[in-house]
Amino acid sequence: MTHGTSTQTHCPYCALQCAMHLEPGPDGRLAARPADFPTNRGGLCRKGWTSAEVLTVPDRLTRPLMRKDRGSPLTEVDWDTALDHIAERLLALRAESGPDTVAVFGSGGLTNEKSYTLGKFARLALATSQIDYNGRFCMSSAAAGSTKAFGLDRGMPFPLTDVGQAEVVLLAGANPAETMPPMMGHLSAPTLIVIDPRRSATARVALDNGGVHLAPRPGTDLALALGLLHAARIQGWADDDYLDRRTTGFDRAWEHAAAWWPERTEQVTGVPAARIRAAADLLGRAARNRSAYILTGRGTEQHAKGTDTVSAWINLALALGLPGRQGSGYGCITGQGNGQGGREHGQKADQLPGYRKIADPDARAHVADVWGVDPDTLPGPGRSAFELLDALGEGGGPRAMLLFGSNPLVSAPDSQRVRSRLASLDFLVAADFVLSETAAMADVVLPVAQWAEESGTMTNLEGRILRRNRATAPPQSVRTDLEVLSALATRLGQPSERFPTDPDTVLAELGRASAGGAADYSGATPERLADGEALYWPVLPGSAPTPRLFLDAFAHPDGLARFVAVAHRPPAEETDAEYPLLATTGRLMGHYQSGAQTRRVRELSAAEPEVYVEVHPDTAARAGLAAGEWATVSSRRGHTRARVRIDHTARLDTVFLPFHFGGEHSANNLTNPALDPTSRMPEFKVSAVRLEPAPAP
Ligand code: SF4
Repeated sequence: MTHGTSTQTHCPYCALQCAMHLEPGPDGRLAARPADFPTNRGGLCRKGWTSAEVLTVPDRLTRPLMRKDRGSPLTEVDWDTALDHIAERLLALRAESGPDTVAVFGSGGLTNEKSYTLGKFARLALATSQIDYNGRFCMSSAAAGSTKAFGLDRGMPFPLTDVGQAEVVLLAGANPAETMPPMMGHLSAPTLIVIDPRRSATARVALDNGGVHLAPRPGTDLALALGLLHAARIQGWADDDYLDRRTTGFDRAWEHAAAWWPERTEQVTGVPAARIRAAADLLGRAARNRSAYILTGRGTEQHAKGTDTVSAWINLALALGLPGRQGSGYGCITGQGNGQGGREHGQKADQLPGYRKIADPDARAHVADVWGVDPDTLPGPGRSAFELLDALGEGGGPRAMLLFGSNPLVSAPDSQRVRSRLASLDFLVAADFVLSETAAMADVVLPVAQWAEESGTMTNLEGRILRRNRATAPPQSVRTDLEVLSALATRLGQPSERFPTDPDTVLAELGRASAGGAADYSGATPERLADGEALYWPVLPGSAPTPRLFLDAFAHPDGLARFVAVAHRPPAEETDAEYPLLATTGRLMGHYQSGAQTRRVRELSAAEPEVYVEVHPDTAARAGLAAGEWATVSSRRGHTRARVRIDHTARLDTVFLPFHFGGEHSANNLTNPALDPTSRMPEFKVSAVRLEPAPAP
């Protein structure tokens, strides 16, 4: 919405989707100012304040780039040349190897309209099953865990403002003080219990305010959740009436938790038994008052047992009677800006719009009807994100890939393996607004509009649909992703009217395609969004949206929540004499995801210019390292060069690296692509490593 020279919109980065005004500053360029909104209450973090600078970064792409062959440089071409070449190459490869030879890789940063159109483009224009997106690396484990327990996944099934009213909030594997600081405004009143191997910024806030920090050994928080469930029940905090009326499966889940008395939990996790008992009392007492929340983040999810770990935390919430009641609950803190909407509209390998399963005949029939095609022509499920990347160029795997808004060379695990797979492709196309590390490998790069240059909707961490408004025109000769997809679809033989380029037209179609599904957007109209109505999904025409889910019943057919029986198991790889330390990775306040955007913003880059390895002083000394020196961190997969940062609160057995940097400084050179059997989430959070001195660069 534009008033005079000011446009109200939302931040381009994380799932808090803080509201802001964009207005011309003294130099005539747009500048961001905070706007009042329930999630950010007039606050922005450092990234939000500087977000407008991304619109004018010096190396902004403004013309399509193409290379003659693999050895030659990227050079500017006109749009018709680029698009004709892409269509010609894709059609030729498809004729040789079949439709699944073309893969599509999307993003949790794309608007709902783009996510929807990308899924439709893959299934209709390319007829490929090979589509997935970087959100698989973000919160797929929480989505799987919530669906198992509640029959539905809407990250936080309640407004964030509810959380601020609680007596106690347990945060497992989440560090909002660093990653989404305005959220901390909602966490100032509750007593915090923070579960994190590091003394994170959030853990420090908890301790400063009389809360608790429990620091388990990386990869053992499932055991800690079992230990807390054990202690909570033994100490009398289980809600037996709620267990009878609203849940099923407690007895089987308890068979596992019963063995995790606090002293045994201490042996595995390193968290003292007395502190486990005290935390269980603190949480249980608040739960008895129906005034407690359990929130999980990437720290619980990014494991080869991420889904089970999320289930363990949900089991604790259910045993205490938290979910489905006003004033208490379980929720997941989504990371990417449209991490929620991005997984609902069909860019995930196994899904169709409306959060429907692609293998479900009724879902296929409904969506095919909206698209005007025969359901039998729709492809089936494809590969998950890492499996897709890992299959590229291999015998039978995709030979071409189209990449939209993602930089997997930095954000996927085991970067060197991903690099060799990308290099083995016959044809790679990237649509982006800067030459990211992955785009630099492409055969064709398409310059596309970014957040404030186009309108569209996002779905925030509460499942609330928001409208981003266009504040400025993109550079001349830059196109929107919707325009690119439409132009390519036409060249691939689709009728042009099947791929509209107007976001409102796409939203209306998305509404029809999602109608009747779990994530129903059929009532999310531009008019209701412009009126400022709080449109939490499901939102149907003429009906009130649903800020709080499950108050009467959970989404399983019998209305009951499910306990899922889960057992602790060790990380996918253990330490040994060669790799004696554990590495864990995470985010910094000044950067977002792969850093392709934020590393180009002067103030953010100046604040956090380089990768570092955070290490306990004794561990550093044993490796012959001191603060400020360069270290080589090595895992069984690769090496990273990082500046040593000493932290006296670090665990002796654990080092930490932020993952926003590329090349030889990428933390993902180290990470383990072992996958969760359900969510297919890689094990980003635990790698066995060693630390050695490295020469300065
Ligand atoms: Fe808000 Fe996240 Fe943007 Fe920071 S990055 S201003 S927390 S939406």
